[in-house]
Amino acid sequence: MIGDDKVAEIRERTDIAALVGEYVSLKRVGASFRGLCPFHSEKSPSFYVHPARQFFHCFGCQASGDVFKFVMQLEGRTFPEALRQLADRAGVELPKEDARENEGVRREKQKRERLTSITDTAAGFYMRMLEEHPHAGIARAELEKRRMEKETVATYRLGYAPHAWDALAKHLATRGFSPQEAEEAGVIVPRKTGDGHYDRFRHRLMFPITDVHGRIVAFSGRALDLPEGEKASGDPPAKYVNSPEGPLYKKGEGLFGLHEARVELRREGVAVLCEGNFDVLAVHQAGIRHVVAPLGTAFTANQAKLLRRYVARVVLLFDGDKAGRKATRAAYPLLREVGLPAQVVALPQGEDPDSFTRGRGADGLKQLVQTATPVVDYLIEAEATEAGNDPGMRAQAIEALGPVLASVESPVERGLYVERVAQAFQVNNLESVRQQLNRGVRAARGRPNPQANARRLEAPAPAPVEAIPTNRLRPADLNQIPGVERDLVGCFLDQPLVFGQARAEKVLTLLTSHEMEAILLAALRLSGVSGTFDAPSLFVEIEREGVGPGPARRWLEERLALQTFDAENTESFLESALPLLRRQQIEREQRELMRRIQEALREGETERASDLMKLRDELFRAAGALQRAKR
Ligand SMILES: [Zn+2]
Repeated sequence: MIGDDKVAEIRERTDIAALVGEYVSLKRVGASFRGLCPFHSEKSPSFYVHPARQFFHCFGCQASGDVFKFVMQLEGRTFPEALRQLADRAGVELPKEDARENEGVRREKQKRERLTSITDTAAGFYMRMLEEHPHAGIARAELEKRRMEKETVATYRLGYAPHAWDALAKHLATRGFSPQEAEEAGVIVPRKTGDGHYDRFRHRLMFPITDVHGRIVAFSGRALDLPEGEKASGDPPAKYVNSPEGPLYKKGEGLFGLHEARVELRREGVAVLCEGNFDVLAVHQAGIRHVVAPLGTAFTANQAKLLRRYVARVVLLFDGDKAGRKATRAAYPLLREVGLPAQVVALPQGEDPDSFTRGRGADGLKQLVQTATPVVDYLIEAEATEAGNDPGMRAQAIEALGPVLASVESPVERGLYVERVAQAFQVNNLESVRQQLNRGVRAARGRPNPQANARRLEAPAPAPVEAIPTNRLRPADLNQIPGVERDLVGCFLDQPLVFGQARAEKVLTLLTSHEMEAILLAALRLSGVSGTFDAPSLFVEIEREGVGPGPARRWLEERLALQTFDAENTESFLESALPLLRRQQIEREQRELMRRIQEALREGETERASDLMKLRDELFRAAGALQRAKR
């Protein structure tokens, strides 16, 4: 385990404004910096970074936290990963963990680094070959045909694997990589007979595949037309060849374009999912940068989980044909399983994103993405249209919809969809529709796939009433906290030294809100030593005081992002606010006394009533003194 002090040290030595500035352009406003939020889409900036408080906050989407949180959210890292990354950046040495385990981890890490330096070298070689190799014109012509711009080609680091048996193998050898290592990295293959290796990718357009850290873990190579005068030998080559599974790469994990899209995915909160690599390039080039694709396989559960780390919604942009619909049907339950709502962009029959943008331009595609329809609605309509009037086809189409509907969580929603299927296919008998859908569910269960746990489409049962916990404390409505209390605590946060310990302690006794009291107490304690405090420590402290997530915590996050009091207006504010707080307290006490006096009189306890009246008179005098002092 890495201690809190190390965490604090790394935080301390990381300039949060510089870190954020690597992703977002920031402008100084007072004590903070402001820019466009990387976590949601916006036109005017509401994202603030307060360097002294080591804290960021967005007023638009409420994203909030310290340097670790920023890296975790933006790069999709776990806390230990973010910790390591920022430790490296800040030059803080982390303690060696358990020696034996650490040795294994260290060796694993070294090996990974060695292998990714091979893939990186290979990518550089392919990129150079795209410019230089005599046959690369064929690859460039393919890119031109698809109107790929230089910038796009560079962003995704596309390259050309030469038309030769061992061009890469030789190049890697000159760089000091052994054939065994290069084989493990997946870029060369041992000869079946005799010694030696040959290049896995030959005469192909190369797409590097990166992991979430931006390191190349695999390649996807697309077949190209043969150079003039050469004859094809044997079967035509596969359209795509991918790296084999190995230490770097597991099939069905990772997404093409994820690293390039990661910041925009966060910002938009939605991923556009395409089928192929060229689709991703075309959509990216059309100005939609939050786009990814599965890697030459069908979309997998692991890829759905990966996307969940970045976005809250997915738009499927698959081909407008039968295969595209099948892919949509298959992807839907996987997305549903990880809680990602999905919509579909319906491309015209026979079009793919690549051809569509070439024909209708970027704006046409953008428009289409904006008008995406929910997956289930889309599938019902599309299948009904496709099935036409043939009864057999119609029955089959309804059956195919079974697993899709079965993955709809809510029984009510499910029931409504059953009705919609009946309407779309013009079947009057709801029960027979349900039976047909259930056949599809059973058939899907027989197949080994993630739909195995699909629910049966029974008639909708009344939704169970969830037990509502009775003694859970509701967070106080922020409006119940008097404004002057919030202002005073905020003022202390901005100017702890001008405000001063003595006045703060006085205010502590007058606050009516437990949350404000906890915040002030924590800030007072933290600033007592150095006169300043940072936001992460403050959050830890107030949590100790029992202030969990809720309106008060949210208020604090917003309040910390901005600094409204300077040394000058602090004094004048305190002059009016402190007596006001005191007066409010007196008024509360007066009301309480009146209530008790009336109670005593009702019960005939005149002696107690007259004691209470004396107290009340004293309070009136105190209030009068306050009033005079004010004048
Ligand atoms: Zn935001």
